[in-house]
Amino acid sequence: MRVKLENLTRIFPNRNKGGDDVVAVNNFTYEIPDGKLVGLLGPSGCGKSTSLYMICGLQKPTSGKIYFGDEDVTDLAPEHRGVGLVFQNYALYPHMTVKQNILFPLQNLKGEDKLDKDTMLERAYEVARLVQIDELMDRKPAELSGGQQQRVAIARALVKMPRVLLLDEPLSNLDARLRLQTREEIKKIQQSTGITTVFVTHDQEEAMSISDSIVVMKLGVVQQTGAPQDVYDNPINLFVAKFLGTPPINVFDGEVKDGALYIGEDKVLATPNVKDQKVYVGIRPEGFIPAEKGALHCSLQNVEVMGRDVSIVSTNKALSSQSANKVIRSIVDADTKIDRNAKEVAFNIKPNKIFLFNKKTEERIIVGK
Ligand code: ATP
Repeated sequence: MRVKLENLTRIFPNRNKGGDDVVAVNNFTYEIPDGKLVGLLGPSGCGKSTSLYMICGLQKPTSGKIYFGDEDVTDLAPEHRGVGLVFQNYALYPHMTVKQNILFPLQNLKGEDKLDKDTMLERAYEVARLVQIDELMDRKPAELSGGQQQRVAIARALVKMPRVLLLDEPLSNLDARLRLQTREEIKKIQQSTGITTVFVTHDQEEAMSISDSIVVMKLGVVQQTGAPQDVYDNPINLFVAKFLGTPPINVFDGEVKDGALYIGEDKVLATPNVKDQKVYVGIRPEGFIPAEKGALHCSLQNVEVMGRDVSIVSTNKALSSQSANKVIRSIVDADTKIDRNAKEVAFNIKPNKIFLFNKKTEERIIVGK
């Protein structure tokens, strides 16, 4: 099912006298192709959940339209939209068994949607097998691990064969290992069922790893949409560049002068077709190549061995207040030769890993060829 959002806006009136209304979602236009998984991504309060609740019908948009296929569902009640919703806190009925929890949405079907008992059971077991909890059908939620409870919640959302599956931070309550495993399972389930899915998370790594496309939001406004790798490789502004990637991008104060980019005194990149100006310079951790006569000179602080990679921690006076780090973190292969006792380290910079941003607007400045 294709989902189309058209100029979707949600404004919450301010309850304090004289305060401004909260524009939780501002003019969100986007089309989710049939059968794809889209990650809504952004920091707390950026409007992810509000967007999701408008798609499922729990929140009414102040303006704008929502289409499932060609059908305008903007004013349709949630129960008639054919959506399955999974929350962070599972929300299972504690007094019911797993089986009863999964059957519950089917037992509530009315009129011509009503199913006979055998069909309901068949469906319940089918989705339970899909999420691998068919052995646990007679347990109560309290007798399950967090990961198992979340699978029951997913099974319960899938049992009505929704047209659209909506997941609101579904992995937040799981520990690191289980998060990893469950996100892979969600991706598999989504691919095998082909249900168009919207996945809300503030965790960029999670969104990037399972989404066909991501939507990065800030203060209710969509900043950038696209395939995760494309957005990572071509951030449209400093916010997106900083939000994607671990360790985060290193941000420096820099200056374009006479066709070249300077960080402090160091001339690090040719910048044809960019006019002279002060800029923010973002360099991804994997963009640094240690080299004896490298262009960027830094003070070496530490070398951290991380198995496959080595993290070189260094400092530079031009590191910007915009940087998420107080130090420069560069990631290089473990077999790269580094003198750990040296006071200084120099790097050449991979041109496709360095980005320039306008100091005022923080928009990306594209460097010509
Ligand atoms: P989080 O990751 O913390 O859940 P989010 O990105 O999902 O955040 P939303 O819950 O969509 O963000 O909230 C977006 C903005 O709308 C926030 O500023 C929030 O305070 C505001 N907001 C949400 N619901 C209401 C409400 N019912 N009344 C007033 N303001 C609201």
